[in-house]
Amino acid sequence: MDLAALHLRPGEGRRLEVAVDVDPITFGGQTYALDPSTVDVILDVSRMSGEGYALRLRTSSTLHGPCMRCLDDAALPVEVDAREVDQPGGGDELSSPYVTDEVLDVGAWTRDAIVLALPAQVLCRADCAGLCPVCGTNLNTAGPEHHHEAERDPRWDVLSELKFD
Ligand SMILES: [Zn+2]
Ligand SMILES: [Zn+2]
Repeated sequence: MDLAALHLRPGEGRRLEVAVDVDPITFGGQTYALDPSTVDVILDVSRMSGEGYALRLRTSSTLHGPCMRCLDDAALPVEVDAREVDQPGGGDELSSPYVTDEVLDVGAWTRDAIVLALPAQVLCRADCAGLCPVCGTNLNTAGPEHHHEAERDPRWDVLSELKFD
């Protein structure tokens, strides 16, 4: 997106709505896709009083993919509210990696902002019970009564009959 083409005067701003395609995201060794894969982005572009731009990007979407505990389908709402400032000559702090010569890479910014907004784990629900460590059954559907008899090693029975004097 060419910011210069907006012809903003210093101090002036504009709100734009942009549709951005977001490719599936690999996270924690799993692949997650946004549904729909095209997200509606609200972009606030403000030309600063000197040179440069202040930018705000907002979007919300839903991420779909496997629950990291039980591998069932998980749907995770993602809310993004990100800001960037790009001021030529302002140094690294005031230089946005998404702006080059007044051209904003909305796609890269949207994708990175979504990745940053993800929680540490994607779960089908906060209290997902996960998989049984013994047989791999999904404990969310198996219920709390699912359990295995502790396997006894018969050699311990022999030992317990020994008497140590
Ligand atoms: Zn789960
Ligand atoms: Zn089991």
